Amino acid sequence: MSSTKYIFVTGGVTSSLGKGILASSLAKLLQARGYSVTIQKLDPYINVDPGTLNPYEHGECFVTDDGAETDLDLGHYERFLNKPTSQANNVTTGRIYQSVINKERRGDYLGKTVQIIPHITDEIKRKIKFLGTKRKYDIVVTEIGGTVGDIESLPYIEAVRQLKWELGSNALVIHLTLVPFLAASGELKTKPTQHSVKALLENGVQPDILVLRTEHDLGIDIRKKVALFCNVEIDAVVQSIDVPTIYDVPNKMREEKLDVTVLKKIKLPLKDDPALKEWNNFLERHKNPEHEVRIGLVGKYVELQDAYKSIAESLVHAGASNLCRVKLDWIHSEEINESNVEEMVGGLDGVIIAPGFGHRGIEGKILATKYVRENNIPFLGICLGMQIAVIEYARNVLGMTNADSTEMNEKAPFPVIDLMEEQKGITEKGGTMRLGAYACHIVDKKSNMYKAYGQADIRERHRHRYEFNNQFLEDFKKGGMKPVGLNPDTNLVEVMEIPSHKWFIGVQYHPEYSSTVLNPHPLFVAFVKAALTK
Ligand code: GLN
Repeated sequence: MSSTKYIFVTGGVTSSLGKGILASSLAKLLQARGYSVTIQKLDPYINVDPGTLNPYEHGECFVTDDGAETDLDLGHYERFLNKPTSQANNVTTGRIYQSVINKERRGDYLGKTVQIIPHITDEIKRKIKFLGTKRKYDIVVTEIGGTVGDIESLPYIEAVRQLKWELGSNALVIHLTLVPFLAASGELKTKPTQHSVKALLENGVQPDILVLRTEHDLGIDIRKKVALFCNVEIDAVVQSIDVPTIYDVPNKMREEKLDVTVLKKIKLPLKDDPALKEWNNFLERHKNPEHEVRIGLVGKYVELQDAYKSIAESLVHAGASNLCRVKLDWIHSEEINESNVEEMVGGLDGVIIAPGFGHRGIEGKILATKYVRENNIPFLGICLGMQIAVIEYARNVLGMTNADSTEMNEKAPFPVIDLMEEQKGITEKGGTMRLGAYACHIVDKKSNMYKAYGQADIRERHRHRYEFNNQFLEDFKKGGMKPVGLNPDTNLVEVMEIPSHKWFIGVQYHPEYSSTVLNPHPLFVAFVKAALTK
Protein backbone atom coordinates (compact mmCIF):
# COMPACT_ATOMS: atom_id res chain seq x y z
CA MET A 1 0.00 0.00 0.00
CA SER A 2 1.58 3.26 -1.08
CA SER A 3 -0.41 5.95 0.68
CA THR A 4 -3.43 6.25 2.90
CA LYS A 5 -6.75 7.18 1.30
CA TYR A 6 -8.96 9.75 3.01
CA ILE A 7 -12.74 9.66 2.75
CA PHE A 8 -14.75 12.58 4.11
CA VAL A 9 -18.40 12.33 5.05
CA THR A 10 -20.27 15.63 5.24
CA GLY A 11 -23.94 16.22 5.95
CA GLY A 12 -26.49 18.57 4.42
CA VAL A 13 -30.11 19.71 4.77
CA THR A 14 -30.58 18.66 8.39
CA SER A 15 -28.80 17.01 11.28
CA SER A 16 -29.60 13.47 12.49
CA LEU A 17 -29.52 11.89 9.02
CA GLY A 18 -27.15 9.22 10.26
CA LYS A 19 -23.70 10.30 9.08
CA GLY A 20 -22.16 8.17 11.80
CA ILE A 21 -24.03 5.06 10.64
CA LEU A 22 -23.18 5.78 7.00
CA ALA A 23 -19.49 6.23 7.83
CA SER A 24 -19.55 3.04 9.94
CA SER A 25 -21.35 1.04 7.23
CA LEU A 26 -18.99 2.10 4.47
CA ALA A 27 -15.96 1.44 6.69
CA LYS A 28 -17.43 -1.98 7.53
CA LEU A 29 -17.70 -2.88 3.83
CA LEU A 30 -14.16 -1.72 3.09
CA GLN A 31 -12.84 -3.59 6.13
CA ALA A 32 -14.78 -6.68 5.01
CA ARG A 33 -12.96 -6.47 1.66
CA GLY A 34 -9.64 -6.70 3.46
CA TYR A 35 -8.57 -3.09 4.06
CA SER A 36 -7.46 -1.66 7.40
CA VAL A 37 -9.90 1.14 8.09
CA THR A 38 -10.55 3.56 10.91
CA ILE A 39 -13.16 6.27 11.39
CA GLN A 40 -12.65 9.69 12.89
CA LYS A 41 -15.17 12.30 14.02
CA LEU A 42 -14.52 16.03 13.84
CA ASP A 43 -16.91 17.95 16.09
CA PRO A 44 -17.37 21.67 15.52
CA TYR A 45 -18.13 22.69 19.13
CA ILE A 46 -15.73 24.55 21.39
CA ASN A 47 -15.73 22.13 24.32
CA VAL A 48 -12.34 20.39 24.32
CA ASP A 49 -14.20 17.09 24.60
CA PRO A 50 -17.80 16.06 25.28
CA GLY A 51 -16.89 14.92 28.81
CA THR A 52 -18.11 18.20 30.23
CA LEU A 53 -21.39 18.12 28.26
CA ASN A 54 -24.71 17.32 29.88
CA PRO A 55 -26.17 14.20 28.20
CA TYR A 56 -29.26 16.27 27.27
CA GLU A 57 -26.97 18.33 25.01
CA HIS A 58 -25.17 15.61 23.13
CA GLY A 59 -26.24 12.16 24.30
CA GLU A 60 -23.85 9.66 25.81
CA CYS A 61 -20.18 10.36 26.35
CA PHE A 62 -18.30 7.36 24.94
CA VAL A 63 -15.00 6.39 26.59
CA THR A 64 -12.15 4.75 24.68
CA ASP A 65 -9.55 2.29 25.99
CA ASP A 66 -6.97 5.06 26.21
CA GLY A 67 -9.30 7.13 28.38
CA ALA A 68 -10.60 9.69 25.89
CA GLU A 69 -14.09 11.07 26.52
CA THR A 70 -15.60 11.16 23.05
CA ASP A 71 -18.68 11.57 20.89
CA LEU A 72 -21.21 8.74 20.90
CA ASP A 73 -20.56 8.07 17.21
CA LEU A 74 -17.26 6.47 18.23
CA GLY A 75 -19.39 3.82 19.93
CA HIS A 76 -20.95 3.02 16.54
CA TYR A 77 -17.52 2.93 14.91
CA GLU A 78 -16.31 0.35 17.43
CA ARG A 79 -19.52 -1.69 17.35
CA PHE A 80 -19.41 -1.91 13.55
CA LEU A 81 -15.66 -2.38 13.01
CA ASN A 82 -14.99 -4.47 16.13
CA LYS A 83 -11.79 -2.47 16.65
CA PRO A 84 -10.97 -0.02 19.43
CA THR A 85 -10.72 3.69 18.68
CA SER A 86 -8.59 6.23 20.55
CA GLN A 87 -8.24 9.90 21.40
CA ALA A 88 -7.04 10.53 17.84
CA ASN A 89 -10.42 9.40 16.49
CA ASN A 90 -12.32 12.37 17.94
CA VAL A 91 -11.26 15.97 17.50
CA THR A 92 -13.23 19.07 18.49
CA THR A 93 -12.83 22.73 17.61
CA GLY A 94 -11.91 23.28 21.26
CA ARG A 95 -9.03 20.84 20.98
CA ILE A 96 -7.83 22.37 17.69
CA TYR A 97 -7.83 25.89 19.13
CA GLN A 98 -6.22 24.69 22.35
CA SER A 99 -3.24 23.24 20.48
CA VAL A 100 -2.90 26.28 18.19
CA ILE A 101 -3.01 28.66 21.17
CA ASN A 102 -0.49 26.54 23.08
CA LYS A 103 1.85 26.69 20.07
CA GLU A 104 1.37 30.44 19.83
CA ARG A 105 2.27 30.87 23.51
CA ARG A 106 5.39 28.74 23.01
CA GLY A 107 6.41 31.06 20.17
CA ASP A 108 6.20 28.34 17.51
CA TYR A 109 4.69 30.71 14.94
CA LEU A 110 7.79 32.95 14.95
CA GLY A 111 6.01 36.28 15.07
CA LYS A 112 3.39 35.51 12.42
CA THR A 113 -0.24 36.57 12.78
CA VAL A 114 -2.11 33.40 13.78
CA GLN A 115 -5.21 32.94 11.59
CA ILE A 116 -7.97 30.48 10.80
CA ILE A 117 -6.35 29.92 7.41
CA PRO A 118 -3.67 28.54 7.47
CA HIS A 119 -3.06 27.87 11.18
CA ILE A 120 -6.39 26.40 12.28
CA THR A 121 -6.89 24.55 9.00
CA ASP A 122 -3.30 23.20 9.17
CA GLU A 123 -3.99 21.87 12.65
CA ILE A 124 -7.21 20.21 11.41
CA LYS A 125 -5.32 18.66 8.50
CA ARG A 126 -2.58 17.42 10.84
CA LYS A 127 -5.19 15.72 13.05
CA ILE A 128 -6.82 14.09 10.01
CA LYS A 129 -3.54 12.84 8.53
CA PHE A 130 -2.21 11.59 11.88
CA LEU A 131 -4.28 8.40 11.64
CA GLY A 132 -2.92 7.67 8.18
CA THR A 133 0.74 8.56 8.67
CA LYS A 134 1.30 7.56 12.31
CA ARG A 135 -1.22 4.74 12.68
CA LYS A 136 -0.80 3.54 9.10
CA TYR A 137 -4.38 2.72 8.14
CA ASP A 138 -5.11 1.99 4.47
CA ILE A 139 -8.24 4.11 4.64
CA VAL A 140 -9.29 6.83 7.08
CA VAL A 141 -12.96 7.79 7.01
CA THR A 142 -13.49 11.23 8.57
CA GLU A 143 -16.99 12.28 9.56
CA ILE A 144 -17.45 16.04 9.75
CA GLY A 145 -19.97 16.87 12.49
CA GLY A 146 -22.71 19.45 11.95
CA THR A 147 -24.42 20.43 8.72
CA VAL A 148 -22.90 22.19 5.71
CA GLY A 149 -23.71 25.88 5.93
CA ASP A 150 -23.16 26.11 9.72
CA ILE A 151 -20.70 28.88 10.54
CA GLU A 152 -18.83 26.64 12.95
CA SER A 153 -18.23 23.91 10.32
CA LEU A 154 -16.52 26.28 7.87
CA PRO A 155 -12.88 25.69 8.91
CA TYR A 156 -13.43 21.93 8.56
CA ILE A 157 -14.93 22.23 5.09
CA GLU A 158 -12.03 24.50 4.14
CA ALA A 159 -9.56 21.88 5.41
CA VAL A 160 -11.37 19.26 3.28
CA ARG A 161 -11.14 21.57 0.24
CA GLN A 162 -7.37 21.94 0.74
CA LEU A 163 -6.85 18.22 1.30
CA LYS A 164 -8.83 17.32 -1.81
CA TRP A 165 -6.58 19.62 -3.78
CA GLU A 166 -3.39 18.27 -2.21
CA LEU A 167 -4.28 14.58 -2.25
CA GLY A 168 -6.07 14.23 -5.60
CA SER A 169 -7.48 10.73 -5.98
CA ASN A 170 -6.31 9.84 -2.48
CA ALA A 171 -9.21 11.92 -1.13
CA LEU A 172 -12.94 11.57 -1.66
CA VAL A 173 -15.98 13.46 -0.39
CA ILE A 174 -19.32 11.80 0.30
CA HIS A 175 -22.20 14.14 1.04
CA LEU A 176 -25.25 12.82 2.89
CA THR A 177 -28.53 14.65 2.33
CA LEU A 178 -32.27 14.18 2.65
CA VAL A 179 -34.86 13.70 -0.08
CA PRO A 180 -38.11 14.54 1.70
CA PHE A 181 -41.45 13.03 0.70
CA LEU A 182 -44.35 15.47 0.50
CA ALA A 183 -47.41 13.43 1.40
CA ALA A 184 -49.88 16.06 0.11
CA SER A 185 -48.54 15.90 -3.45
CA GLY A 186 -47.13 12.38 -3.16
CA GLU A 187 -43.70 13.54 -4.37
CA LEU A 188 -40.07 13.12 -3.45
CA LYS A 189 -38.24 16.45 -3.54
CA THR A 190 -34.62 16.95 -4.63
CA LYS A 191 -34.39 20.72 -4.14
CA PRO A 192 -32.94 20.56 -0.58
CA THR A 193 -30.18 18.29 -1.92
CA GLN A 194 -29.44 20.68 -4.79
CA HIS A 195 -29.21 23.60 -2.35
CA SER A 196 -27.02 21.68 0.01
CA VAL A 197 -24.58 20.71 -2.76
CA LYS A 198 -24.55 24.39 -3.85
CA ALA A 199 -23.58 25.36 -0.30
CA LEU A 200 -20.65 22.91 -0.48
CA LEU A 201 -19.66 24.25 -3.90
CA GLU A 202 -19.64 27.80 -2.54
CA ASN A 203 -16.97 26.56 -0.17
CA GLY A 204 -15.01 25.07 -3.05
CA VAL A 205 -15.88 21.42 -2.45
CA GLN A 206 -17.43 19.29 -5.19
CA PRO A 207 -18.78 16.09 -3.59
CA ASP A 208 -17.80 12.88 -5.40
CA ILE A 209 -20.68 10.78 -4.11
CA LEU A 210 -24.14 11.74 -2.84
CA VAL A 211 -25.99 9.53 -0.41
CA LEU A 212 -29.68 10.41 -0.23
CA ARG A 213 -31.71 9.51 2.84
CA THR A 214 -35.28 8.69 1.87
CA GLU A 215 -38.42 6.99 3.13
CA HIS A 216 -39.37 5.78 -0.37
CA ASP A 217 -37.54 4.20 -3.26
CA LEU A 218 -35.98 6.98 -5.36
CA GLY A 219 -36.32 5.54 -8.84
CA ILE A 220 -34.07 6.27 -11.80
CA ASP A 221 -35.56 9.67 -12.69
CA ILE A 222 -34.81 11.21 -9.32
CA ARG A 223 -31.29 9.76 -9.42
CA LYS A 224 -30.72 11.19 -12.91
CA LYS A 225 -32.02 14.58 -11.85
CA VAL A 226 -29.73 14.74 -8.82
CA ALA A 227 -26.75 13.60 -10.91
CA LEU A 228 -27.45 16.30 -13.50
CA PHE A 229 -27.92 19.16 -11.06
CA CYS A 230 -25.09 18.21 -8.74
CA ASN A 231 -22.28 17.24 -11.18
CA VAL A 232 -21.96 13.61 -10.11
CA GLU A 233 -22.13 10.40 -12.09
CA ILE A 234 -25.32 8.40 -11.88
CA ASP A 235 -23.47 5.55 -10.08
CA ALA A 236 -22.45 8.07 -7.47
CA VAL A 237 -26.05 8.82 -6.48
CA VAL A 238 -26.72 6.36 -3.70
CA GLN A 239 -30.04 5.76 -2.01
CA SER A 240 -30.16 5.20 1.75
CA ILE A 241 -33.67 4.06 2.52
CA ASP A 242 -35.05 3.78 6.08
CA VAL A 243 -34.41 0.30 7.52
CA PRO A 244 -35.62 -1.45 10.69
CA THR A 245 -32.16 -1.63 12.29
CA ILE A 246 -28.95 0.35 11.86
CA TYR A 247 -27.17 -2.98 11.39
CA ASP A 248 -28.97 -3.42 8.03
CA VAL A 249 -27.23 -0.37 6.56
CA PRO A 250 -23.96 -2.10 5.46
CA ASN A 251 -25.98 -4.58 3.39
CA LYS A 252 -28.10 -1.77 1.94
CA MET A 253 -24.96 0.18 0.99
CA ARG A 254 -23.55 -2.96 -0.56
CA GLU A 255 -26.69 -3.38 -2.69
CA GLU A 256 -26.12 0.19 -3.86
CA LYS A 257 -22.46 -0.72 -4.61
CA LEU A 258 -21.23 2.19 -2.51
CA ASP A 259 -18.05 0.28 -1.62
CA VAL A 260 -17.31 -0.49 -5.29
CA THR A 261 -17.90 3.11 -6.40
CA VAL A 262 -15.67 4.39 -3.58
CA LEU A 263 -12.81 1.98 -4.33
CA LYS A 264 -12.89 2.80 -8.04
CA LYS A 265 -12.76 6.51 -7.32
CA ILE A 266 -9.89 6.26 -4.86
CA LYS A 267 -8.14 3.84 -7.24
CA LEU A 268 -7.87 0.82 -4.97
CA PRO A 269 -8.42 -2.78 -6.09
CA LEU A 270 -11.83 -4.20 -5.20
CA LYS A 271 -10.21 -7.32 -3.68
CA ASP A 272 -12.71 -9.99 -2.53
CA ASP A 273 -16.42 -9.53 -2.04
CA PRO A 274 -17.08 -8.25 1.49
CA ALA A 275 -16.81 -11.06 4.07
CA LEU A 276 -20.01 -10.44 6.00
CA LYS A 277 -20.87 -13.98 7.07
CA GLU A 278 -20.57 -13.38 10.82
CA TRP A 279 -22.28 -10.01 10.51
CA ASN A 280 -25.24 -11.57 8.68
CA ASN A 281 -25.32 -14.41 11.15
CA PHE A 282 -25.84 -11.79 13.88
CA LEU A 283 -28.63 -10.14 11.82
CA GLU A 284 -30.29 -13.51 11.31
CA ARG A 285 -30.35 -14.16 15.06
CA HIS A 286 -31.42 -10.61 15.83
CA LYS A 287 -34.37 -10.79 13.43
CA ASN A 288 -35.55 -14.29 14.30
CA PRO A 289 -35.67 -14.48 18.09
CA GLU A 290 -37.13 -17.52 19.83
CA HIS A 291 -37.63 -15.85 23.20
CA GLU A 292 -38.39 -12.46 24.64
CA VAL A 293 -37.41 -10.66 27.86
CA ARG A 294 -38.40 -7.31 29.31
CA ILE A 295 -35.53 -5.38 30.78
CA GLY A 296 -36.00 -2.14 32.71
CA LEU A 297 -33.36 0.55 32.32
CA VAL A 298 -33.63 2.91 35.27
CA GLY A 299 -32.01 6.27 34.65
CA LYS A 300 -32.65 9.98 34.81
CA TYR A 301 -32.19 10.86 31.14
CA VAL A 302 -34.65 8.34 29.73
CA GLU A 303 -36.49 11.00 27.68
CA LEU A 304 -33.34 11.11 25.57
CA GLN A 305 -32.44 7.55 24.69
CA ASP A 306 -29.15 8.64 23.11
CA ALA A 307 -27.93 9.20 26.66
CA TYR A 308 -27.78 5.40 27.09
CA LYS A 309 -26.91 4.46 23.50
CA SER A 310 -24.18 1.93 24.28
CA ILE A 311 -26.28 0.13 26.91
CA ALA A 312 -29.20 -0.21 24.49
CA GLU A 313 -26.92 -1.52 21.73
CA SER A 314 -25.18 -3.95 24.11
CA LEU A 315 -28.60 -5.41 24.87
CA VAL A 316 -29.28 -5.82 21.15
CA HIS A 317 -25.98 -7.74 20.78
CA ALA A 318 -26.63 -9.84 23.90
CA GLY A 319 -30.21 -10.50 22.80
CA ALA A 320 -29.09 -11.85 19.41
CA SER A 321 -26.52 -14.02 21.11
CA ASN A 322 -29.33 -15.53 23.26
CA LEU A 323 -31.76 -15.71 20.30
CA CYS A 324 -33.90 -13.40 22.36
CA ARG A 325 -35.75 -10.15 21.68
CA VAL A 326 -34.92 -7.68 24.44
CA LYS A 327 -37.79 -5.28 25.06
CA LEU A 328 -36.42 -2.27 26.86
CA ASP A 329 -38.59 -0.36 29.34
CA TRP A 330 -37.14 3.11 29.90
CA ILE A 331 -37.91 3.98 33.52
CA HIS A 332 -37.45 7.47 34.89
CA SER A 333 -35.83 7.16 38.31
CA GLU A 334 -37.53 10.34 39.56
CA GLU A 335 -40.94 8.78 38.98
CA ILE A 336 -40.33 5.78 41.24
CA ASN A 337 -41.71 5.94 44.79
CA GLU A 338 -42.60 3.48 47.57
CA SER A 339 -46.15 3.08 46.41
CA ASN A 340 -45.49 2.46 42.68
CA VAL A 341 -42.17 0.59 42.71
CA GLU A 342 -43.84 -2.81 42.40
CA GLU A 343 -45.92 -1.63 39.45
CA MET A 344 -42.85 -0.06 37.79
CA VAL A 345 -40.37 -2.95 38.12
CA GLY A 346 -42.33 -5.95 39.44
CA GLY A 347 -43.16 -7.43 36.05
CA LEU A 348 -39.67 -7.11 34.57
CA ASP A 349 -37.31 -9.99 33.81
CA GLY A 350 -34.23 -7.94 34.66
CA VAL A 351 -33.26 -4.44 35.77
CA ILE A 352 -30.28 -2.25 34.90
CA ILE A 353 -29.45 0.79 37.01
CA ALA A 354 -27.74 3.26 34.70
CA PRO A 355 -24.59 5.33 35.22
CA GLY A 356 -25.01 8.93 36.27
CA PHE A 357 -23.82 11.92 38.25
CA GLY A 358 -25.34 14.02 41.05
CA HIS A 359 -28.21 13.30 43.42
CA ARG A 360 -31.25 13.76 41.13
CA GLY A 361 -33.25 10.53 40.89
CA ILE A 362 -31.08 8.63 43.38
CA GLU A 363 -33.84 7.62 45.82
CA GLY A 364 -35.92 6.11 43.00
CA LYS A 365 -32.93 4.04 41.90
CA ILE A 366 -32.46 2.83 45.49
CA LEU A 367 -36.12 1.79 45.74
CA ALA A 368 -35.95 -0.12 42.45
CA THR A 369 -32.75 -1.86 43.54
CA LYS A 370 -34.28 -2.87 46.89
CA TYR A 371 -37.28 -4.34 45.09
CA VAL A 372 -35.28 -6.44 42.64
CA ARG A 373 -32.85 -7.57 45.34
CA GLU A 374 -35.71 -8.74 47.57
CA ASN A 375 -37.59 -10.36 44.69
CA ASN A 376 -34.68 -12.21 43.10
CA ILE A 377 -34.96 -10.32 39.78
CA PRO A 378 -31.68 -10.27 37.81
CA PHE A 379 -29.84 -6.99 38.41
CA LEU A 380 -26.99 -5.22 36.65
CA GLY A 381 -25.72 -1.99 38.19
CA ILE A 382 -23.35 0.02 36.03
CA CYS A 383 -20.98 2.56 37.64
CA LEU A 384 -23.41 4.74 39.63
CA GLY A 385 -25.69 1.67 39.44
CA MET A 386 -23.11 -0.38 41.35
CA GLN A 387 -22.74 2.43 43.90
CA ILE A 388 -26.53 2.48 44.36
CA ALA A 389 -26.52 -1.28 45.01
CA VAL A 390 -23.90 -0.76 47.74
CA ILE A 391 -25.82 2.13 49.36
CA GLU A 392 -29.09 0.18 49.28
CA TYR A 393 -27.48 -2.89 50.84
CA ALA A 394 -25.80 -0.81 53.55
CA ARG A 395 -29.06 0.92 54.47
CA ASN A 396 -31.50 -1.95 54.25
CA VAL A 397 -29.47 -5.07 55.07
CA LEU A 398 -26.43 -3.95 57.08
CA GLY A 399 -28.44 -1.51 59.19
CA MET A 400 -26.32 1.53 58.30
CA THR A 401 -29.02 4.17 58.52
CA ASN A 402 -28.59 6.99 55.97
CA ALA A 403 -25.56 5.31 54.39
CA ASP A 404 -24.69 7.22 51.25
CA SER A 405 -22.10 8.24 48.71
CA THR A 406 -20.25 11.42 49.62
CA GLU A 407 -21.20 12.61 46.12
CA MET A 408 -24.79 12.88 47.41
CA ASN A 409 -24.13 13.66 51.07
CA GLU A 410 -20.68 14.84 52.14
CA LYS A 411 -21.56 14.28 55.78
CA ALA A 412 -23.04 10.80 55.35
CA PRO A 413 -22.78 8.84 58.64
CA PHE A 414 -21.73 5.74 56.66
CA PRO A 415 -19.86 6.96 53.55
CA VAL A 416 -19.90 3.56 51.83
CA ILE A 417 -19.02 5.23 48.52
CA ASP A 418 -16.37 7.93 48.76
CA LEU A 419 -14.22 10.14 46.55
CA MET A 420 -11.16 8.23 45.33
CA GLU A 421 -7.90 9.21 47.04
CA GLU A 422 -6.33 10.33 43.72
CA GLN A 423 -9.35 12.60 43.08
CA LYS A 424 -9.10 14.55 46.33
CA GLY A 425 -6.89 17.40 45.14
CA ILE A 426 -8.60 17.79 41.75
CA THR A 427 -10.65 20.92 41.08
CA GLU A 428 -10.82 21.04 37.26
CA LYS A 429 -13.70 19.14 35.69
CA GLY A 430 -12.46 18.38 32.15
CA GLY A 431 -10.76 15.01 31.56
CA THR A 432 -9.91 14.49 35.25
CA MET A 433 -12.00 11.45 36.19
CA ARG A 434 -10.56 7.92 36.43
CA LEU A 435 -10.84 7.21 32.72
CA GLY A 436 -10.12 4.37 30.33
CA ALA A 437 -9.27 0.69 30.63
CA TYR A 438 -7.92 -0.83 33.85
CA ALA A 439 -7.28 -4.41 34.86
CA CYS A 440 -9.68 -6.29 37.10
CA HIS A 441 -9.09 -9.64 38.77
CA ILE A 442 -12.09 -11.84 39.52
CA VAL A 443 -11.34 -13.43 42.88
CA ASP A 444 -14.19 -15.93 43.16
CA LYS A 445 -14.45 -18.69 40.58
CA LYS A 446 -17.90 -19.68 41.82
CA SER A 447 -19.34 -16.22 41.22
CA ASN A 448 -21.82 -15.40 38.44
CA MET A 449 -19.25 -12.83 37.43
CA TYR A 450 -16.60 -15.49 36.74
CA LYS A 451 -19.17 -17.69 35.00
CA ALA A 452 -20.05 -14.79 32.71
CA TYR A 453 -16.47 -14.06 31.62
CA GLY A 454 -15.02 -17.57 31.87
CA GLN A 455 -11.69 -16.05 32.91
CA ALA A 456 -10.24 -14.32 35.96
CA ASP A 457 -8.32 -11.44 34.40
CA ILE A 458 -10.21 -8.84 32.44
CA ARG A 459 -9.82 -5.21 31.38
CA GLU A 460 -12.71 -2.78 31.33
CA ARG A 461 -13.23 0.95 30.78
CA HIS A 462 -14.00 3.42 33.55
CA ARG A 463 -15.39 6.90 34.04
CA HIS A 464 -15.87 7.89 37.68
CA ARG A 465 -14.56 9.85 40.67
CA TYR A 466 -16.18 7.91 43.51
CA GLU A 467 -15.50 4.36 44.59
CA PHE A 468 -16.46 1.69 47.14
CA ASN A 469 -14.99 2.71 50.51
CA ASN A 470 -12.69 -0.13 51.57
CA GLN A 471 -13.18 0.78 55.26
CA PHE A 472 -16.49 -1.08 55.01
CA LEU A 473 -15.12 -4.13 53.19
CA GLU A 474 -15.45 -6.54 56.12
CA ASP A 475 -19.01 -5.40 56.91
CA PHE A 476 -20.11 -6.17 53.37
CA LYS A 477 -18.27 -9.49 53.16
CA LYS A 478 -19.82 -10.64 56.44
CA GLY A 479 -23.18 -9.24 55.48
CA GLY A 480 -23.52 -11.17 52.20
CA MET A 481 -22.49 -8.74 49.45
CA LYS A 482 -19.12 -9.80 48.05
CA PRO A 483 -16.39 -7.82 46.31
CA VAL A 484 -15.71 -10.38 43.56
CA GLY A 485 -13.63 -8.18 41.25
CA LEU A 486 -10.66 -6.07 42.39
CA ASN A 487 -8.11 -3.90 40.67
CA PRO A 488 -4.89 -5.92 41.11
CA ASP A 489 -2.70 -2.82 41.57
CA THR A 490 -4.79 -0.67 43.89
CA ASN A 491 -7.32 -3.07 45.44
CA LEU A 492 -10.17 -0.79 44.37
CA VAL A 493 -13.42 -2.75 44.34
CA GLU A 494 -14.58 -3.10 40.74
CA VAL A 495 -17.39 -5.63 41.15
CA MET A 496 -19.94 -6.39 43.87
CA GLU A 497 -22.12 -9.48 43.81
CA ILE A 498 -24.76 -11.02 46.09
CA PRO A 499 -24.10 -14.80 45.98
CA SER A 500 -27.45 -15.69 47.57
CA HIS A 501 -29.33 -13.84 44.82
CA LYS A 502 -30.12 -15.42 41.46
CA TRP A 503 -28.01 -12.89 39.50
CA PHE A 504 -27.09 -9.60 41.15
CA ILE A 505 -23.95 -7.84 39.92
CA GLY A 506 -22.78 -4.25 40.22
CA VAL A 507 -19.75 -3.12 38.23
CA GLN A 508 -17.81 0.09 38.78
CA TYR A 509 -16.77 0.01 35.11
CA HIS A 510 -18.75 0.37 31.87
CA PRO A 511 -19.11 -2.96 30.04
CA GLU A 512 -21.38 -1.24 27.49
CA TYR A 513 -18.42 0.56 25.89
CA SER A 514 -16.88 -2.68 24.68
CA SER A 515 -19.80 -4.68 23.31
CA THR A 516 -19.71 -5.06 19.53
CA VAL A 517 -21.81 -6.87 16.92
CA LEU A 518 -19.20 -9.59 16.51
CA ASN A 519 -18.20 -9.66 20.19
CA PRO A 520 -21.29 -9.21 22.37
CA HIS A 521 -20.16 -8.34 25.90
CA PRO A 522 -20.12 -11.46 28.15
CA LEU A 523 -21.70 -9.64 31.09
CA PHE A 524 -24.70 -8.49 29.04
CA VAL A 525 -24.97 -11.94 27.47
CA ALA A 526 -25.04 -13.55 30.95
CA PHE A 527 -27.47 -10.93 32.27
CA VAL A 528 -29.95 -11.52 29.42
CA LYS A 529 -29.57 -15.27 29.94
CA ALA A 530 -30.37 -14.87 33.64
CA ALA A 531 -33.39 -12.71 32.72
CA LEU A 532 -34.54 -15.44 30.34
CA THR A 533 -34.72 -18.00 33.12
CA LYS A 534 -36.52 -15.77 35.59
N1 GLN B 1 -21.07 9.72 39.78
C1 GLN B 1 -20.36 8.52 40.03
C2 GLN B 1 -18.85 8.75 40.14
O1 GLN B 1 -18.35 9.73 39.68
C3 GLN B 1 -20.66 7.48 38.96
C4 GLN B 1 -20.16 7.86 37.60
C5 GLN B 1 -20.79 7.06 36.49
O2 GLN B 1 -21.84 6.45 36.65
N2 GLN B 1 -20.19 7.10 35.31
O3 GLN B 1 -18.15 7.93 40.68
